[in-house]
Amino acid sequence: SYRKGGYHAVRIGDSFSGGRYIAQRKLGWGEFSTVWLAYDTRSSGFVALKIQKSAPQFAQAALHEIEILSAIADGDPSNSKYVVRLIDHFKHTGPNGQHLCMVLEFLGDSLLHLVKYNRYKGLELNRVREICQCILTGLDYLHRELGLIHTDLKLENVLLLSTINTTKDPIRSGMAPILERPEGIPNGGATMNIIEKKLKQRARRAAARISNRRASMGGVGGVAKANRSLDGIDIRCKVVDFGNACWADKQFAQEIQTRQYRAPEVILQSGYSFSADMWSFACIVFELATGEMMFTPKGGQGFSEDEDHLAMMMELLGKMPRKIANGGARSKDYFDKYGDLKRIRRLKHGSLEKLLIDKFRFYEIDAHEFAKFLCPLLDFEPENRPTAHQCLQHPWLNVKSLNQTEVKSESGVETVNVGMRNLHMKGGK
Ligand code: ATP
Ligand code: MG
Ligand code: MG
Repeated sequence: SYRKGGYHAVRIGDSFSGGRYIAQRKLGWGEFSTVWLAYDTRSSGFVALKIQKSAPQFAQAALHEIEILSAIADGDPSNSKYVVRLIDHFKHTGPNGQHLCMVLEFLGDSLLHLVKYNRYKGLELNRVREICQCILTGLDYLHRELGLIHTDLKLENVLLLSTINTTKDPIRSGMAPILERPEGIPNGGATMNIIEKKLKQRARRAAARISNRRASMGGVGGVAKANRSLDGIDIRCKVVDFGNACWADKQFAQEIQTRQYRAPEVILQSGYSFSADMWSFACIVFELATGEMMFTPKGGQGFSEDEDHLAMMMELLGKMPRKIANGGARSKDYFDKYGDLKRIRRLKHGSLEKLLIDKFRFYEIDAHEFAKFLCPLLDFEPENRPTAHQCLQHPWLNVKSLNQTEVKSESGVETVNVGMRNLHMKGGK
């Protein structure tokens, strides 16, 4: 890909935009670009420099992304909407051609890393709530104020936010919100960082607190095992990757979204709107809380990936109303006139709440409340799904996990976690 029309080769120390930006290290890459940590000599801070491949179709895509990112930045002068900020853009000419470059605020690891780091066991529900607040604030802004549909929400496209401003190399100095990987997961050169240090500190303190409390209550058990609970760390994150975003009234692609996060109306080609993002949002939230994707369809003998996907949706969420099943341009390929799948006949019906309890070992009350939050977002009828704005008002987001208990201490009433890890689960999977 490092040839004419492709990526631009960067060496550490290379300068861009008349010497304003100095490349420090590679942060990542995608189909369209490589992304570099760069030092901005004007602001004396670090930025992410996204250097697009040079061929015309990539330049076209970058112009589209810049247009959308500019609208996002213009509408949010105080940068408080949990959506990545475009700082600058320019052209850079190199041996492989002319590359459009985007300068973005520097963010940390993605939510996928966070879930991996937690060894795919699912995050505590209180952490999931914090992440939901950020994503929903971002979506409400995109949908209601800008009229934009993201169309590719997934864990990789939500990045952790660094709250610390530093003029030191944010990765080397351990300031970047990049997580130390457990064994077997490539580290990407990140050293121990602030979240990791905080985690260890927190775990030690919490263990001490619990053992004190148990001792003072005359209970048994002794020191709770210090583990890497994310307890008490203020997780904040931002929505990124607007390469596929579109205006609701100016759509171009029929097939949107990454497979596992794809809404039924997209599969059936019945037209989509903001509510397609809300479906993907629900898939993200489920994955954060359980560590597993909600739907992982695979084609099989005599049926396609799409049909498997529709079957999985109905097994978990109930039968699709006939009007919806038969309402899309592709409906005839999959459904008979009664709204039953043509090629997958026997469905195993379950429910989200039951799945959370039986497979993911949620406490019943947590499963019930969590399902009450998620199920309306997974309504087969897109118009029935709550908007991001409505979701932000939902009681589930504004209630602390029921697995926390209040104890009286000298300084008043204190909220203490009953367990240390995966508080919503009974002893893990
Ligand atoms: P895709 O094929 O996913 O569309 P792309 O070429 O458009 O890829 P991005 O997904 O925008 O590229 O970025 C590639 C990677 O660079 C991301 O997965 C992420 O690891 C990293 N990255 C992107 N933006 C930032 C940022 N603002 N701060 C830190 N890292 C970033
Ligand atoms: Mg991406
Ligand atoms: Mg992209």
